[in-house]
Amino acid sequence: MLIRKLFRFENAHIVRNCSSDRCKRSIHGHSYQVEVLLEAHALDNGQMVYDFGLMKDDIRNLIDAFDHAVAFWDEDDADYIAACKQFSARWVALPVSPSAEQFSRVFFTLVDRALSLTDMANGEQDVRLHSVIVHETTTGYAQCFRDDIDNPRIGPIDMARVEFSEQVQEEWPDSTLWQRLQRGERKQNPVVVQQVIAKQ
Ligand SMILES: [Zn+2]
Repeated sequence: MLIRKLFRFENAHIVRNCSSDRCKRSIHGHSYQVEVLLEAHALDNGQMVYDFGLMKDDIRNLIDAFDHAVAFWDEDDADYIAACKQFSARWVALPVSPSAEQFSRVFFTLVDRALSLTDMANGEQDVRLHSVIVHETTTGYAQCFRDDIDNPRIGPIDMARVEFSEQVQEEWPDSTLWQRLQRGERKQNPVVVQQVIAKQ
């Protein structure tokens, strides 16, 4: 069974080397929608795949880091990167170009990292990230599956190179979120008192 949670953010970028002149030569923005799809073949004590409310913590904060920010490829022109950092307090440096395709791979990796470091506490069994869809416009989206992460033909996503600006980190409820995920620190979901004990 699949569940899907939708997130939104506004972000500015340039997509170098693409065919569309407007996209590769001008800073422009999109109203992104991100669909996070989780898969499980059993239900938790709340008879859910995974409580949607639990996705409003680290997962939401990681995606929200891109809101009202500029995202740039860390291999872009040094003057452009310096200008992004100088004139935008909120920025995210990526090891890949900020295309919808790479955004979907970046979000898959970020969400997968957060989920894998979460100790679930309400009877969840085999919850795993199925895919991430990134809508760049109302008509165009990219969808990343697990196979797309370790595909040498697409290239690696080096998470050590992802950098969130100071302003982004300060605005997180937990400013150490990214450091915590990079260090591999585990996080415990709240324990849930059972109100009804289901008959077996
Ligand atoms: Zn664009």
